[in-house]
Amino acid sequence: MAAWENNVRKVVPYTPGEQPKESGIIKLNTNENPYPPSPAVKAAYDAFDNAEMRLYPAPDASELVDAIAETYGVNSSQVFVGVGSDDVISMAFMTFFGSEKPVLFPDITYSFYDVWAEVYGIPYVQVPLKKGFRIDPGDYVRPNGGIIFPNPNAPTGVLESTDMIETVIAENPDSVVIIDEAYIDFAGKGKSVLPLLSKYENLLVVQTFSKSRSMAGMRIGFAIGSEKLIKYMNDVKFSVNSYTMNRVTIKCGAAAVRDTEYFESTVAKIVKTRENAKKELAARGFTFPDSQSNFIFASPTKLPAGKVFEELKKRKIYVRYWDKPVIRDHLRITIGTDDEMNALFKALDEIFKEA
Ligand code: PMP
Repeated sequence: MAAWENNVRKVVPYTPGEQPKESGIIKLNTNENPYPPSPAVKAAYDAFDNAEMRLYPAPDASELVDAIAETYGVNSSQVFVGVGSDDVISMAFMTFFGSEKPVLFPDITYSFYDVWAEVYGIPYVQVPLKKGFRIDPGDYVRPNGGIIFPNPNAPTGVLESTDMIETVIAENPDSVVIIDEAYIDFAGKGKSVLPLLSKYENLLVVQTFSKSRSMAGMRIGFAIGSEKLIKYMNDVKFSVNSYTMNRVTIKCGAAAVRDTEYFESTVAKIVKTRENAKKELAARGFTFPDSQSNFIFASPTKLPAGKVFEELKKRKIYVRYWDKPVIRDHLRITIGTDDEMNALFKALDEIFKEA
């Protein structure tokens, strides 16, 4: 090792799901939306004058921030936007988790949380989930430097109640509690903890345009919280990179969030396909916790999950598999179109027949 390498910040990076270069893949491995974004996004994109590209974008991305604030009925000063919710959560770790006490999150959860904690040198404890992949609020009543978990959780798809989450927040007035609602739109209306913002200054709710709004490729995430929390986040953001959101993204994002009707109809289609997929997977011997997201965390009982993953891949169907303790007997299957799901069921029948 060269001497300069002693000064290198060494990290084990997060591994994203595979983005195949090949065409003709049925891609059920990264929880993308199988439908295109709203037609209003295409119109905004087409209307974009590329002469504008020479100019820096608005550092506060106000057009997008205002559209989100209007849609969610909050003040613009309560909204923070970033390059996907990964950027937003990363900024939140940097901003809020400066304590020497450990940040708490579940042992089975979004596998980026421990990576951010490592890269920023934040102490953390991974709290084991209870039976059925459930979160016990009692586990979060202990000294900590912050709390984060997704609701619904990933990769399990399990939704926790607003009451349970309120208990966690109420028990932790000395920490910032971040609820990562990447998949909340698939859980039905009224399941977000956004209404709790009126009671708790230390709650940050994070959402994304990558799933329910079909815009993973544009990279838009946002956080809503008290004015105080958002001010602290912006101070850190403006100390790292003033221009995170580019001009095209700001325009397209604002158009997307304003089209509530399209958004609701797309989500409804995915939820319908998901409910049917639960029946089809159960009929093929899979077991899974009840999912309220756009994926199902399913364990095949007829063959090892790793084998099913490989066999599906050979048939150009990609799902997600982690060869890790506790979850190595599960596959995370994103909900695609009805046609894609039917292709999956057909492939599974073939694989199980051959076994
Ligand atoms: N949180 C959770 C729980 C996720 O599964 C994902 C998607 N990988 C993200 C955040 C980040 O999504 P994005 O950066 O595309 O908004």
